[in-house]
Amino acid sequence: MDRLSETAITELGALCPGGLERNVDLSSISAWRIGGRADLVLRPSSTEEVAALLRWFSRHGIRPAVIGLTTNMLFDDAGLRAPCIQIGGRMAQIAFDGSEVRAQAGAWVPGFARKLMQAGLGGAEHTCGIPGTLGGLVCMNGGSQRKGIGSNILAVDSVDSIGMIRRREAADCGFAYRRSVFQTNGEVITAASMRFAPRPHAEIRSEMRAILADRRRKFPRKQPNCGSVFKSNPVMYSKIGPPGAVIEHLGFKGQRIGGALVSSRHANFIVNAGGARARDVLELISRITNAVENATGYRMEAEALFVGVDGKMYPADKVVLEVVK
Ligand SMILES: Cc1cc2nc3c(=O)[nH]c(=O)nc-3n(C[C@H](O)[C@H](O)[C@H](O)COP(=O)(O)OP(=O)(O)OC[C@H]3O[C@@H](n4cnc5c(N)ncnc54)[C@H](O)[C@@H]3O)c2cc1C
Repeated sequence: MDRLSETAITELGALCPGGLERNVDLSSISAWRIGGRADLVLRPSSTEEVAALLRWFSRHGIRPAVIGLTTNMLFDDAGLRAPCIQIGGRMAQIAFDGSEVRAQAGAWVPGFARKLMQAGLGGAEHTCGIPGTLGGLVCMNGGSQRKGIGSNILAVDSVDSIGMIRRREAADCGFAYRRSVFQTNGEVITAASMRFAPRPHAEIRSEMRAILADRRRKFPRKQPNCGSVFKSNPVMYSKIGPPGAVIEHLGFKGQRIGGALVSSRHANFIVNAGGARARDVLELISRITNAVENATGYRMEAEALFVGVDGKMYPADKVVLEVVK
């Protein structure tokens, strides 16, 4: 894709005051610490700024990449030529109204879960160790312990690809296991309204502590990673077990390609052991996917998303199928 002209960049800067950064090293901001340079990252501070940016992109026939904290993303070693909109700390307000909560998409999920605990609202305990933004969580319908944030959503505010501000009721968000309509409809989530149930503060606190202790024990903590690489397949889970156990059983723990390493703590995590490239991670994902399919007949799907230079995103196992033979 063509690089943006200096005039275009000046116009975009005016639509997103104080939020434009050029030539961003993705390996320094991404959770996996992988990726080349992004030409342009825009960090809007309001829904109106998001709408103005999307109207500009729509007029110019450009589709930007939308990112949160990149805790589920693998960036291309060649970087990102598509302009990128990052929803983060500049849009992170949280407001309470009884058991209803409205939060902006840039809110950091562990901080959000903590605020709910302080307010005596239960139901989001399972999210307390998920290190992304609320927007990323809603888009992925993320959660743990077989739960997803979708079950607490009343409505999601978003801006569509032509810059129209919209509100979708939960029933129109297509929530299913790690799925939502936002993965394909090009809308940028700006806020979510949710309902939680009153619960004693001490109970929430003790459940969250137990969850965090369990995660600290099981998951790699020091090396950069993107959480679970593969989604759990319910049929595979019931017949032979979760992805981590199956991958471990096949002897992948400790296997390495370049700087990408299957964690010795948890086999569904690939960590950056130093200088990993996207290519290394993709090759490891390909080897694991094929080995599990040969051994069990189940083809696992990656939860981690690969972001190409053009900003298009694919589940990381799909890229392997197309690129690596
Ligand atoms: C250590 C670790 C543990 C993890 N544990 C869990 C877990 O237990 N459960 C779980 O579900 N996930 C887990 N994850 C994965 C990840 O944290 C979640 O998927 C998280 O919700 C992604 O949020 P993010 O802001 O980082 O999104 P990103 O990774 O930046 O983006 C993910 C997707 O969301 C889209 N997106 C992001 N923000 C917006 C927005 N505002 N509007 C529209 N689309 C948007 C992106 O385009 C992309 O498609 C873990 C990750 C790590 C590193």
